[in-house]
Amino acid sequence: MGNSVQEKWDEILEFAKHEYNIPNVSFNTWIKDLYIKKVEDNIVYITSDNNNITSNFNYISNKYGIFIKTAIQEMTDIEYDIKFENETDNTNTVKTGVTASKIIHNEGLPLNPDYTFDNFVVSKNNQLAHATALKAAESPGDIYNPLYIYGDSGLGKTHLMQSIGHFILENNPEKKVMFVTSDTFTNELIDSIRKGDASPAAFREKYRNIDVLLIDDIQFIIGKDRTQEEFFYTFNALYEAKKQIVITSDKPPKDFTTLDERWRSRFGWGIIVDLTAPDYETKVAILQKKLDLKQSEGSNIAIDNDVISYMAENINSNIRTLEGALTKVIALAKIQKMPATKELAEYALRDLITPNQKKTITPEFIISVVAEHFHFSPNDILSSKRDKAIAIPRQIAMYLSSEYTNSTTSKIGEIFGRDHSTVIHNVGKIADNRTKDIQLDETIKVLINKINPDI
Ligand code: ADP
Ligand code: MG
Repeated sequence: MGNSVQEKWDEILEFAKHEYNIPNVSFNTWIKDLYIKKVEDNIVYITSDNNNITSNFNYISNKYGIFIKTAIQEMTDIEYDIKFENETDNTNTVKTGVTASKIIHNEGLPLNPDYTFDNFVVSKNNQLAHATALKAAESPGDIYNPLYIYGDSGLGKTHLMQSIGHFILENNPEKKVMFVTSDTFTNELIDSIRKGDASPAAFREKYRNIDVLLIDDIQFIIGKDRTQEEFFYTFNALYEAKKQIVITSDKPPKDFTTLDERWRSRFGWGIIVDLTAPDYETKVAILQKKLDLKQSEGSNIAIDNDVISYMAENINSNIRTLEGALTKVIALAKIQKMPATKELAEYALRDLITPNQKKTITPEFIISVVAEHFHFSPNDILSSKRDKAIAIPRQIAMYLSSEYTNSTTSKIGEIFGRDHSTVIHNVGKIADNRTKDIQLDETIKVLINKINPDI
């Protein structure tokens, strides 16, 4: 009799997935690798060989158990109980009485469309952060609030944070998700104070009326008294209303030594997780994923496997640099109309992969940082588009290249595809505007930090 559940197991899981609209990433993370250990006394014992799953049985049972139980009943016509059981025989039995919601249409927000859970490569160095972020996304405001993600630059904090936003919008389209960077938050506050709003009511109202706050790079707020105060005001209001807060930072809360302990401890009220540098296999998987994405966006470029290994072996700094390297190799292959071989990669990456040398800041690196900061692609920065939204980031990138790299203005001009006098003009303009425009100055300071926090 137990056989039929076992035989139909794959179908049962598929049925549960479709009937209850279980998102792909949730299905792949929690459910796909479940299997039946035994069927006894009308109980289906479910287990898995995957550690990430067995250590989350409690969660999986509460969140998805009822779907699996119902699916078993639908597919076999028998009402089994189910138990999740790992090797140490800890069982979690399923409670009943849950209904699944249907997917409605989601609204557009300035999230990077590529920063989804589906595009996030999970590995040892980010597994806990990924599982935690997914749980927060599945039950916003409920289990992990606030969720605090920290790690060095370029290791996927923003990507993971935005994945939560995408996930919530896809599955609960009625939710209001707000993604802000610390400098947007600061600038909006400055703006509302400048408008004579002594207690910035409109500002507060805006932030109080959301369901999910994703605030990126909190380190740029800490230490700025007024902004910090306003942030914690918002934090408290949202926290009390049980709204999900997700925070990223380059360091753990305990390292904010200038921050009052009473504030610092708030960051730890939910859960704190970190992202660490990827190992070789992860780097290869990420490069492959990025290549797939580029190919699905219409770029028909073939890259030898040894080029991928070469990059993964030699680039240790961070994933952003790794991705920049891939873009550079593809760009050179296109320009030279040559296949992307290892020789070509060695040539394209000669500045980046210099053994035993400290990382040098290049205009290309600055372009990638600036592009990402303003949610453009490096190609947009280099394009001939002239609208203000892109022209200013381009000028800022020129300015930073001139200030923080060893490149001459002619070289910078070459890289940006502009003549040398345009570069000089733009650099001067930004330098001058910076002294008058405090928001611009703020943004530039953040970018300098992103380029090289040691400066
Ligand atoms: P951070 O915010 O920590 O500085 P980002 O989230 O901006 O880093 O990530 C930098 C780049 O690396 C992004 O393009 C992102 O998509 C990519 N990336 C980071 N981690 C992963 C991962 N695990 N899988 C796929 N891409 C990743
Ligand atoms: Mg980031």
